[in-house]
Order: sequence, then C-alpha cells, then structure tokens
Amino acid sequence: MGASAAAGTGAGTGAGTAAGTGAGTGAGTAAGTGLVADFLPFTWVDGPGNRLVLFMQGCNFDCTACHNPQTIPLASTHARDWSVDDVLAKVRESMPYIRGITVSGGEATLQWPFLVALFTRVKTDPEFAHLTTFIDSNGHATQDVWDALLPVTDGVMLDLKALDDDVHRTFTGQSNELVLASIRSLARAGKLYETRLMLAPGLNDSDETLRATAAWLLAVDPEMRVKINHFHAHGTRSPASGWPEADEATREHYRDVLLDAGVQYLC
Ligand code: SF4
Repeated sequence: MGASAAAGTGAGTGAGTAAGTGAGTGAGTAAGTGLVADFLPFTWVDGPGNRLVLFMQGCNFDCTACHNPQTIPLASTHARDWSVDDVLAKVRESMPYIRGITVSGGEATLQWPFLVALFTRVKTDPEFAHLTTFIDSNGHATQDVWDALLPVTDGVMLDLKALDDDVHRTFTGQSNELVLASIRSLARAGKLYETRLMLAPGLNDSDETLRATAAWLLAVDPEMRVKINHFHAHGTRSPASGWPEADEATREHYRDVLLDAGVQYLC
C-alpha cells in the first residue's frame, strides 16, 4: 500500500483465505461490494493532485515493515462492506477538492471485481467522469486481473520492496515474480504512474542494490518515475519496529545514487 495511512484498527476475524495466497482472486467480496478498512476524503500523497483514497481490507503480502498490519487479514470486524453507491456518496462530498480517486489497501487488486465496478461507474457517469482512477498496489496480481482493471484505470502506483527475490521473500513472505511482471506489463500499457521503492537502512539500501534496481527499472522504461518510500518504524511490528530509519544525509545519498544511475524522474 502507499503513503497515506489507513486509520482502521483491530485484528481480522480470519475468514477468507490467509494472507499470502490468491494473487488477485477477488477475495471475500462480491463485485457489488468491497470490504473497506477506511478512507480519506482527500490527500495529496497517493497519486496526482488531491484525491479521495479508499483503503481496502486484505492483503496477499505480510510485510514486516507494514504500517497498517490491521489491513492484512482478509476479513476484519472493523472493516465494512461498501457498495459502489456508498463510495460515490463520499466522492460527491469531496468532489470540490479532488481530481480523482485512488484505491489502496491492504492490496486493492484482491478485490478487483469491485474496483472494476467502481471505476466503470466513475468513467461512465457524467457526474464523475472528470475524475481520474488510480490504484496503489503491491504488484502481486496476475495479468488477467490487470487486463480487467486497465480499461477503466488511469494509473497505478506500484511498490517494489526488493529486486532480489530472496530479500523480497524476507520482507513480504512472497516472491517478487508477479511484481516484476506487473511492472513490465503496466509500463508497456502506459499505465505505470510510478514505482515506489521502500528503502530500509542496512537491509535493501546498499549502493549496489540501488544501482541494480535503477538499471532494472530503466531497462523497462528509461523514463520510469521512481519514488522513494523511506522506512518508518512507527506502526510496524517486531522486528521492523526496531529497525533504524534513514537520517537526512542517508536520504540525500539515496537520491544521489539513483540520479547517478540514470533515474530522471525521482520523487
Ligand atoms: S503490501 Fe505489505 S505494506 Fe502493503 S498493506 Fe500489504 S502487508 Fe502491508
């Protein structure tokens, strides 16, 4: 998930499949409703311009560094089912202040049928058609899920937790194979708005790792937009709650290395 934080609380009830399975299987909901952990009426950190953000419940990763572990279970007593009309009622209230909608999580693509229904309504209803539709994703979704989503999706912010598969498994509990395939596929389709790198000091931030990651991304798209998401311990579980955070000099160094490696669009 992305830079904004879902404020929902509470442990999941354990219904549905366990986190870590079912890439893009439409977990736990019918297409008519989505299981929503929380929402923000507007924020400027989840895509272009001010946006309403919906945080879906349930994730197929189990990241050590997750700031919102309460959104990982596929069901939660604190999440509730929203219909498309429920979402649009909130959108209507925020309309004077927003340029679009971002669906985050948890992992938004797990509930892809609901996203397709929501975004299709936004695109076809004259009241909402001026709004852009974005997804904030961990990238662990299969091509058929993207094929269903992309016709009604303007852009995707996608997290790359680690280029090295072993490190990725350590961070998330899953291989990065689908993530890398998603980056390639979305870039090819012109729908990859940005790739977000979560950098944790001493774990995935060596110069060598940054250069290799930049080279891989630029081979996919020489004009790839890259965003650094600095690791923050707040809200994470052990052992990540004890990891160090990057100081200002380290953050500057990351930027220098990525720029030197050829990343032109760095935020
Ligand atoms: S992808 Fe990782 S950080 Fe994002 S919601 Fe899922 S477990 Fe948390």
